[in-house]
Amino acid sequence: MEIVNGKYNASGINLEDIATEFGAPVYVYDGNKIIEQYTRLVNAFKPLQIKVKYACKALNNSAVLQLLKKHGSGLDTVSINEVKLGLKAGFAPNDIIFTPNCVSIEEIQEAVKLGVHINIDNISILEQFGHLYGNTVPCCIRINPHILAGGNSKISTGHIDSKFGISVYQLRHVVRVVKSSNIKVNGLHMHTGSDILDAGVFLQGAEILFDAAKDFPDLSFIDFGSGFKVGYKEEDITTDIEELASALANRFQEFCTEYGRDLELWFEPGKFLVSESGYFLVKVNVLKQTTATVFVGVDSGLNHLIRPMLYDSYHSIVNISNPEGKQRIYTVVGYICETDTFGWDRKLSEVHEGDILCFKNAGAYGFTMSSNYNARFRPAEVLIWNGKAQLIRKRETFEDLTRNEIEIAL
Ligand SMILES: *Cc1c(COP(=O)(O)O)cnc(C)c1O
Repeated sequence: MEIVNGKYNASGINLEDIATEFGAPVYVYDGNKIIEQYTRLVNAFKPLQIKVKYACKALNNSAVLQLLKKHGSGLDTVSINEVKLGLKAGFAPNDIIFTPNCVSIEEIQEAVKLGVHINIDNISILEQFGHLYGNTVPCCIRINPHILAGGNSKISTGHIDSKFGISVYQLRHVVRVVKSSNIKVNGLHMHTGSDILDAGVFLQGAEILFDAAKDFPDLSFIDFGSGFKVGYKEEDITTDIEELASALANRFQEFCTEYGRDLELWFEPGKFLVSESGYFLVKVNVLKQTTATVFVGVDSGLNHLIRPMLYDSYHSIVNISNPEGKQRIYTVVGYICETDTFGWDRKLSEVHEGDILCFKNAGAYGFTMSSNYNARFRPAEVLIWNGKAQLIRKRETFEDLTRNEIEIAL
């Protein structure tokens, strides 16, 4: 996002015009930024050819899936419906990995029927999988290496109390199950959370997987999940992808030599690919001066962007209607009838009722976590691509709110 001729633009498109054309609130994604991030990740590892499986729970609009597919990405999915969204968007089953947590064996069987890669994260399911398929359907195993990633505990998945993955300390049990059912394990996986800062943590996890690999002779890939940290505040330190790549790529090649065969190296970024591409545009409904602060009340709330209330996440906010106005301090809140604060004590260019505010870093876990709470419609979504801003999901309507209700005689 940059100021051009006194207006905020993303890839040459005026953001305020988007709010005028499509209405607010609206999620806007800059496709160029998504592809820039994708390319940056792939290039960082060259000459090693990594495979990127985009974690689509971050943002699963079909247009975004198709855009990433067109540029060579695969897909990481966590529910059978995400698998179906991926297939509908044109991904080949072989390019999709299904990495669910605590789903039923029936859901896994459905995914097997659809032909996607299966990633198993508990021993009970592994046993049932073995009984059902023996060596006829391969699977990947999600290992919890118990390395500690940073960030909010709700998004950290590698710690000892985590429900994710099979503990690396249970490896012996896993190998027993695998051997007795003759399961073909074609991949090892870890995903330790969403805020890993330094390459060292990744490398620690990598060593644990490399070590575990000795017990699995049929591997064709190692999947390091994600956890790349993106910058929400100006001063935030982010994962240095290039540094990570240069450290990991060499070590991975060494490992392949030890293993005796070249394996594929997979990653499953969500946030890293789409977070920065997203701008959430909302309109200012009211300015409300209290004894303590000046509230800016906008036509949105935690029903559209829940991250600040759920994870204490920080989204910088910009008044795009008044780019050069004088800076004042505001508290930006939503219209939901419970506390839904987007940001305390934010410096914004002087705000007027009717102005459009922009939340940055709104591409990941924004729309996909939105709801109809307070009987509000979910926002529209717009994609900037090829020099145009196009609607990729229309705003909901009143009919959507009652679509599945059934009238009964009372
Ligand atoms: C959520 C998730 C990801 C993506 O995490 P980000 O922090 O958005 O990059 C990757 N893999 C799995 C298995 C996930 O559940």
